[in-house]
Amino acid sequence: MPNDMQVDGGGSSDLQQQWKNVSNHLRVEIGEASYQSWLRPMNVLSFSDGVITISVPTRFMRDWASAHYQERLTELWYKENVTVERIDLVVHSAPTKEGNKNLQKDSGQKNMAAGPSQLNNDIGAPLDGRFSFEQFVVGKPNEFAYAAARRVAEADSVPFNPLFLYGGVGLGKTHLMHAIAWHIQANQPERTVIYLSAEKFMYRFITALREQNTVDFKSQFRSVDVLMIDDVQFIAGKDSTQEEFFHTFNALVDQGRQIVISADKSPSDLEGMEERLVSRLNCGLVADIHATTYELRLGILQSKAHKLGAQVPANVLEFLAHKITANVRELEGALNRVVAHSQLVGREITMETTQDVLRDLLRANDRRVTIEEIQKQVASHFNVRISDMHSARRARSVARPRQVAMYLAKQLTTRSLPEIGRKFGGRDHTTVMHAVRKVEELREHEPTFNEDVELLRRILEG
Ligand code: ADP
Ligand code: MG
Repeated sequence: MPNDMQVDGGGSSDLQQQWKNVSNHLRVEIGEASYQSWLRPMNVLSFSDGVITISVPTRFMRDWASAHYQERLTELWYKENVTVERIDLVVHSAPTKEGNKNLQKDSGQKNMAAGPSQLNNDIGAPLDGRFSFEQFVVGKPNEFAYAAARRVAEADSVPFNPLFLYGGVGLGKTHLMHAIAWHIQANQPERTVIYLSAEKFMYRFITALREQNTVDFKSQFRSVDVLMIDDVQFIAGKDSTQEEFFHTFNALVDQGRQIVISADKSPSDLEGMEERLVSRLNCGLVADIHATTYELRLGILQSKAHKLGAQVPANVLEFLAHKITANVRELEGALNRVVAHSQLVGREITMETTQDVLRDLLRANDRRVTIEEIQKQVASHFNVRISDMHSARRARSVARPRQVAMYLAKQLTTRSLPEIGRKFGGRDHTTVMHAVRKVEELREHEPTFNEDVELLRRILEG
C-alpha cells in the first residue's frame, strides 16, 4: 500500500498548498472567467480517509462544479497527493450581509420607479422597440396569449398572477412581454416594470451571492410593480436560483404585484422544476402560443412587407408562408433578405429572385429530403416495391402509396409539380396535383391514414 496517511493528514497548510497547485493548474485549463466563477469561491475544508472536502456557497454551484470539474480536480489532486481518492463538494454558504437582516427592506426603493429609463436600469434588460402590440399580428394560434397579455397591460390592478406564456421558439413570447412593458410604460409611467431573462436573473443572483450582496438583490427585485422573467425553463434544475425565484415570486404576489413569465413548455411539463413552484406557476393564467398556421404566417408577412414599404408580390408571400414554417423569426428573416436584396440590386421582387436569394434557407427547410428518399420510405412503409413508385400500375394497393409519396414530395421539398411528376415515372403535373388533393382529403376523413402520413412526414423530416 502507498504512503502512510500522515504526510497529508498533516498540516492544513499542506492542504492549502496542494489546493493552490491544483487550482492554478485548472485555472490554466479552464480560463480566467470560469476560474473566477467556479473555483475561486471554493473553500477546502478538510482531508481525511482519502477524501478532500470542499465547500461551495450554493447548491447550484455544487451541481455545476461536480458536473464539470470534479473529475479533473480529483485527477489533478491525485498528482499532488496519491492518497487522495475522492473529492466531496458540500454546500456551505458563507456568512453574508444578510446578518443584519432586511432592516431596510422595501424602504426607499420606490424611487427606482423613475419613468421610461426605468426599463433600462441595471437590473432589467432593454426593450426592443419593434415589439409592441401594434406590431403583433393576431391569429388563431396566438389569440388567447395576446388577449391575456393585453389584459395585463391594460389593467391597473392585477387580473391574474402570474401570467404564464408558453410556446416554441420564435413564436412571439418575448414580443408579447415587451409589448406589455411598453404599454404600461406609456400609460402608467408610475409603475415600475422590470423585464429580464431567467438567465440574467440567475446570473445576477449568483453574482450577488459571490459579492455577498443578496440584500440589495432581493430588495431590488421585490420593489417592482411588474416583474417579467423570460425563458424560465433556463432555471429548471438550478436549485438555488429556483429557490430565490420562488421567494421573490411569493413576496411580489403577496404584495399584489404583477408577474409575467414565459417558458418553452407548460409549468407542469417543465422538467426539474420544484413541485411547489410549478403549482404556484399554475395558479394564475397559463396561455400557450401554438405553432403558426399558414394563415397566420401569411398575415405576418403581409404586415411586415407593408411596414417595410416593399412591393412584394402576393405569390411570393404565399410561397414563403408555405415553405418557411419553423417559426416567425425565420419567416421574418427570409422576408428581410428578399426585400434587402431587391433594394440593393434595384430590381423588383419575383419568385425567381426569391428562390435565388433564399436558396440555402429553403434547402435547410427541406431538410435535404430528396424525392428518392421519400419514395424509399413510403414504399417500405406500405410494403410495396420502389419500382412501383415509377410504374404505371393503377391498383389501389400501389396507387395510394404513390400518391402519398407525391404528396410528401410536394410538402417536404421545393420541387415543382412537373418536376415531381417526372420523378414518378414521367407523370403529368395534373396527376401530382390530383394526388396532393386526394391525400389532403383522406387525411381529413381517415384518422388512421392521417396518422400514417404524419408518421412518415416526421420520419422524413427527422
Ligand atoms: P420567442 O420569444 O417566442 O422565441 P420572439 O418573441 O422573439 O419569439 O419572436 C420572434 C420574432 O418573430 C420577433 O421578431 C417577433 O417580433 C416576431 N413575431 C413573432 N410572433 C409575431 C406575431 N404574431 N406578429 C408579428 N411578429 C411576430
Ligand atoms: Mg424569447
